Amino acid sequence: MQLLHNVNLKEYNTFHISENASFFTTIHSATELIEILSYNESKRSRIQFIGGGSNILLTKTLEGITVLNKLKGIQLLSENEDTAIVQFMSGESWHECVMWCVSNGLGGVENLSLIPGTIGAAPIQNIGAYGVELKDVFVSCEAIHLVSQERKTFSLEECQFGYRESIFKTKEKGNYFILSVTLCLQKKPTFKIEYGDIKHILATKFNNHVSIESISKAVIEIRSSKLPDPKVIGNAGSFFKNPVITKQLFDTLLSQYPQLPNYPAENGIKIPAGWLIEQCGWKGYKVDKIGVHERQALVLVNFSDAEGSAIYQLSEQIIISVQQRFNITLEREVNIW
Ligand code: FAD
Ligand code: NAP
Repeated sequence: MQLLHNVNLKEYNTFHISENASFFTTIHSATELIEILSYNESKRSRIQFIGGGSNILLTKTLEGITVLNKLKGIQLLSENEDTAIVQFMSGESWHECVMWCVSNGLGGVENLSLIPGTIGAAPIQNIGAYGVELKDVFVSCEAIHLVSQERKTFSLEECQFGYRESIFKTKEKGNYFILSVTLCLQKKPTFKIEYGDIKHILATKFNNHVSIESISKAVIEIRSSKLPDPKVIGNAGSFFKNPVITKQLFDTLLSQYPQLPNYPAENGIKIPAGWLIEQCGWKGYKVDKIGVHERQALVLVNFSDAEGSAIYQLSEQIIISVQQRFNITLEREVNIW
């Protein structure tokens, strides 16, 4: 175990915020993780994990030990004529695993192409895009408890997945390291193309050919045209969740804003947060080194060397203005550290 002191984390977070980790190490195996947990047993320092750093905002020095996850491996556990059960180690890149599935003719995750980050972070917020969520293909994940060092396999039900939610963000927050994730992939998939521009791109660019590969390519094309590339402009994707509001509030707002976009949700009506933020005049906003992306108001950006706390303050201002105008309280999706 090599524990480094005062390591700058700029290259380990997609916002490119320059904050230090007091102690930093990289793990390549479960054994290396156990070594760190054992070393920390008496010290009881805080331990935090970074995968791709694409869903965190650093606002201060990270005390304790920061662990970069590089656990690699993909293993086909079983298959029949309809499905394949595949285990992915948590340090694998999510997008590269999606590409692996696409090239092996395995469906279910093609709508989730080009989401940055690692396999191990995917269950944390039940990643989702274009009408598909991790939970739709999820079988289980194996995790290690950070104090007892016991291994536990979490089933789909035990993960308590919700909209950008899981047990790892609520009851078990900060208690486990996810070692691997097992997915059930389809050899004869049912495609989801109703969402956003997918159908349009399939018609205009792929001669209406619907396949695992064409959907993946369509999603990659849409995402590349709409979202800022974190390699070019620091960002962590959607900064806020889309709020789900009551029918009563929805009716009141609709009478004032007849064009209010809305989608049915499990326990109410989902309103795109990007629309609310745009209505409050934030889209394309820029002050000093930070701002709100010009094509997607849900994405806050670091143009160059900004402080994480400045981005946090901007998110606070946005929450207040949306609250005042629409009586809706936006919730942050990005983890604030
Ligand atoms: P990190 O940012 O490294 O970590 C996020 C959280 O998970 C932290 O709390 C961390 O401690 C914890 N964590 C990470 N790995 C582990 C582990 N192995 N065990 C335990 N805890 C762990 N998200 C979506 O849902 N849908 C999208 O379409 C989407 N699009 C995006 C587009 C862009 C341009 C960007 C920058 C982000 C986008 N995101 C999206 C957000 C982000 O990519 C996902 O949340 C992703 O799963 C984060 O993975 P990561 O490895 O970067 O996590
Ligand atoms: P979009 O297509 O412009 O749509 C705006 C919002 O409306 C989306 O957030 C989506 O909610 C909702 N929506 C659109 N069509 C819908 C439908 N048919 N049924 C239900 N809800 C619908 O969104 P976008 O910003 O370009 O993003 C496209 C997809 O990628 C979305 O699913 C989005 O969540 C995902 N994405 C996520 C992140 C992130 O960091 N979390 C970043 C970029 C993109 P949902 O968000 O609930 O899908």
